[in-house]
Amino acid sequence: MTDLTALTLADARKGIAAKSFTSLELTEAHLAAMEKARVLNAYVLETPEQARAQARAADTKIAKGDVGPLAGIPLGVKDLFATQGVRTTACSKILGDFKPQYESTVTSQLWRDGAVMLGKLNNDEFAMGSSNETSAFGSVVNPWRREGSDAKLVPGGSSGGSASAVAANLCFGATGTDTGGSIRQPAAFTGIVGIKPTYGRCSRWGIVAFASSLDQAGPFARTVRDTSILMRSMAGHDPKDTTSVDQPVPDYEAAVGKSVKGMKIGIPKEYRIDGMSAEIEKLWTQGADWLKAAGAELVEISLPHTKYALPAYYVVAPAEASSNLARYDGVRYGARVNGKTISEMYENTRAAGFGPEVRRRIMIGTYVLSAGYYDAYYLRAQKVRTLIKKDFEEVFAKGINAILTPATPSAAFGIGEKGSADPIEMYLNDIFTVTVNMAGLPGIAVPAGKDAQGLPLGLQLIGRPFDEETLFSLGEVIEQAAGHFTPAKWW
Ligand code: GLN
Repeated sequence: MTDLTALTLADARKGIAAKSFTSLELTEAHLAAMEKARVLNAYVLETPEQARAQARAADTKIAKGDVGPLAGIPLGVKDLFATQGVRTTACSKILGDFKPQYESTVTSQLWRDGAVMLGKLNNDEFAMGSSNETSAFGSVVNPWRREGSDAKLVPGGSSGGSASAVAANLCFGATGTDTGGSIRQPAAFTGIVGIKPTYGRCSRWGIVAFASSLDQAGPFARTVRDTSILMRSMAGHDPKDTTSVDQPVPDYEAAVGKSVKGMKIGIPKEYRIDGMSAEIEKLWTQGADWLKAAGAELVEISLPHTKYALPAYYVVAPAEASSNLARYDGVRYGARVNGKTISEMYENTRAAGFGPEVRRRIMIGTYVLSAGYYDAYYLRAQKVRTLIKKDFEEVFAKGINAILTPATPSAAFGIGEKGSADPIEMYLNDIFTVTVNMAGLPGIAVPAGKDAQGLPLGLQLIGRPFDEETLFSLGEVIEQAAGHFTPAKWW
């Protein structure tokens, strides 16, 4: 019998419609695979009973001919999305056993369209990190290994559980969030596709906030088409999120396979950073050649403020985080550590509840927002942000349809290998991705090749605001040329 978990989402959808198998069969196959893959630590909570109930409900509807866009498709949900009655922790001890009374808009749209929830996926604590090592539930393991080695590698972060689960066939697709690269970087590290939509495309309502002006939800899947299918269900205007934009949601899937002939693709010279590895250079050139062969025109462009993006991000993001995380005080949610006075209780709760990286961000954030330093840091970073945005606007005004860059400066690294002595070493992972969040643009990561040790590498395409469709069309060209990337199963 064929392994149902290895199908693409699009093929699973076809099979369900053709009654080749049921949603319950798909769901059971995934639940069994999840049980065998616990060593990956991708799921922090498995919800088999809920999954079976949703699958049975989907099967009943399908039998009546009522087939929604995601009817019966099992998915995983990053633990940053509030799920009604189901423990939601942002992988922080401070949320304890918090069970929301409400469902995030994005996940409710997935269930509306018939999808099945398999469980909640691991992530860096409050989505702060690039390796999933800051999670209160421990590191996630990347299903990929270096050739000839059994060293455990990180899946990237912060949506590391989502990426690892999708790459290891523990769900057909998963939700992620991306504040500075948390969808695109883990997608690149695990050989799958991930898209961060335009800011405002998906509702942030019911998603644990990290940096509200940068956070955006998006899907992970194993193919560009599958990602486009999920994106359609996740996107849309939501009056409950004032930053969500009221624009019709296109049929993203229709963009997959569309010709890219005549499109102008920008190659930004500032992304050719010092010390860039020959492998990444080669991958980037290869990607450009593939797009050229498909009829696109490559144009060298300049985004002069790129080098300020990372330092500005690491001012803006912690500033917003320090404000967003003020609500975790031991009164409203989850864990509480008592004290003699109320302020002592706050202090005890926050000291015990937050991990070291989150505490570092809160301290940086409150510092850059404090009276004497606001102008020097926060205000300045906001001005830099405007300049970064303008760089992109000027390039797009010149007729560039999309921009091609590497997704990450390297392939996945080992657990414990980076950032313990100097956090900046970890922050440098986001060098190619943060600019996109600072400018509010859409960005997709597509697997494009392997490094010398056999690990997947990804390319990033950056688009005009609300033009995710172009990214799907171009992403598909890369996917067709590069093929699919499947880790050898060892778990
Ligand atoms: N790695 C970045 C950070 O730690 C981005 C994280 C994210 O996008 N959530 O802030």
